[in-house]
Amino acid sequence: MSEIHLQLTKVHRHYGDGPSQINVLQAADLTVKGGELVAIVAPSGAGKSTLLHIGGLLERPQQGEVEIVGTPTAHMSERGRTLLRRTTIGYVYQFHHLLPEFTALENVAIPQLIAGFSQAAANRRAQELLDLLGVGPRSTHRPAELSGGEQQRVAIARAAANNPRIILADEPTGNLDPATSEKVFEALQDLIRNQGAAALIATHNHDLARRADRIVTLRNGLIEPITL
Ligand code: ADP
Repeated sequence: MSEIHLQLTKVHRHYGDGPSQINVLQAADLTVKGGELVAIVAPSGAGKSTLLHIGGLLERPQQGEVEIVGTPTAHMSERGRTLLRRTTIGYVYQFHHLLPEFTALENVAIPQLIAGFSQAAANRRAQELLDLLGVGPRSTHRPAELSGGEQQRVAIARAAANNPRIILADEPTGNLDPATSEKVFEALQDLIRNQGAAALIATHNHDLARRADRIVTLRNGLIEPITL
């Protein structure tokens, strides 16, 4: 049986106070194991980004625990959370957020250099990942010279660069045409299976969500299983 990589227990997150308070998560529970891909499908404003930010240690819940590969984080310092995030979590955004002045290869190498790998090792792995995602021949191009689908593949390679135990993706195919979305999703799926990472992917695309191992939604602040 696979190890639990991401576990949220009784997580609460609200914004604002008093009558205008918005309760986004209320005692939300979620477990994602290594090698498992969970899709989250919910209407805009339901709290998908909030959930991903909390799972990615970018935001703290007001109550509850977030365990990253068995490590509880509720009482961890900001520095501890940052270090844990860098070494265990890869994040893919809807809009690639690649650094425009660097090539595809450099964008994938940079997180590895920050993690302490040598330039040679970082470049080697970056090229391997770009090859795996089908954008190897584009490695010397800057983001502006790549198509939307290619940019997202590079962003996925970057998220995977340090072999994260958890990959979080917020509408990673949201701005791509259907055929490209499918290819990018497949590339992401292969990578997750290859690396045995746990993945939580927010998507509006029901066809893609059905390819996940499980689908969940957000309802009344709770994370619930659904079938589409
Ligand atoms: P989704 O990703 O599903 O569209 P979000 O997680 O972005 O949803 O937002 C959930 C709810 O929380 C929305 O009503 C949004 O307006 C609110 N919200 C999100 N972030 C903040 C914030 N920083 N301050 C106040 N309200 C917020």
